[in-house]
Amino acid sequence: MTDAVRLRGVEYKWNGRDAFALSVGALQIPRGERLLLLGPSGSGKSTLLSLLTGIALAQAGSVEIMGQQLEGLSGSGRDRFRAEHFGILFQMFNLLPYGTVMDNVLLPLSFAPQRRARAMAAGGTDSEARRLLSALGLPADIGQQTAATLSVGQQQRVATARALIGSPEIIVADEPTSALDDDRQQDFLDLLFGQVDATKATLIMVSHDRRLARHFTRVVELSDILTTSKRQSDKI
Ligand code: ADP
Ligand code: MG
Repeated sequence: MTDAVRLRGVEYKWNGRDAFALSVGALQIPRGERLLLLGPSGSGKSTLLSLLTGIALAQAGSVEIMGQQLEGLSGSGRDRFRAEHFGILFQMFNLLPYGTVMDNVLLPLSFAPQRRARAMAAGGTDSEARRLLSALGLPADIGQQTAATLSVGQQQRVATARALIGSPEIIVADEPTSALDDDRQQDFLDLLFGQVDATKATLIMVSHDRRLARHFTRVVELSDILTTSKRQSDKI
């Protein structure tokens, strides 16, 4: 079976910024793994997730997701590929503030026919959205509430339901626990892992918090996969 993720010789610099360069010799993530990628703030964790999901395109090397080389796709092809195969949990959640909870959870299905078909097969898109919201501990009547009126903990659960709907193969989470206090972190991780296990998804989480390590099947330090890390800010 092909791996979920295969990176080879990847080089990346943000446009016009020479102070930071990401360089990854090799990273292979088999399907079904729960991987925690650890690194301090500014080390390139979010940049690496942008490369994995095709939000950013590596300037050298290859990024292969579920057997598909991202550099072989056009920009819109990468957008479709991302919507279909990735559930993404952003650090700041990125909900549409004026949309309802249901609008937000259902949004990825507009761009992902296979995810839509899976949600349909599970009993319909609306009922699947409600099932996830309830599994994540949200009240049954929250669906018509506007996202901007939610608490931080509720926003995070809605963003999680949006990442999980239609069972994408890979769930990517960018420091999803950083806005929560310790008790809520544990609750949230239990809920997330329960859902990830149920769909046998691959989970890739990045964080600076190594206390999370015990929840994962594999822990990788970003510094161990970077081949050269040129950070001029360190030299000043
Ligand atoms: P981390 O997620 O580990 O905190 P980031 O990947 O966000 O690290 O940042 C690594 C470097 O890339 C930093 O120097 C940051 O300023 C830069 N960077 C991150 N995102 C962007 C962006 N969208 N445009 C330009 N530079 C960016
Ligand atoms: Mg980050």
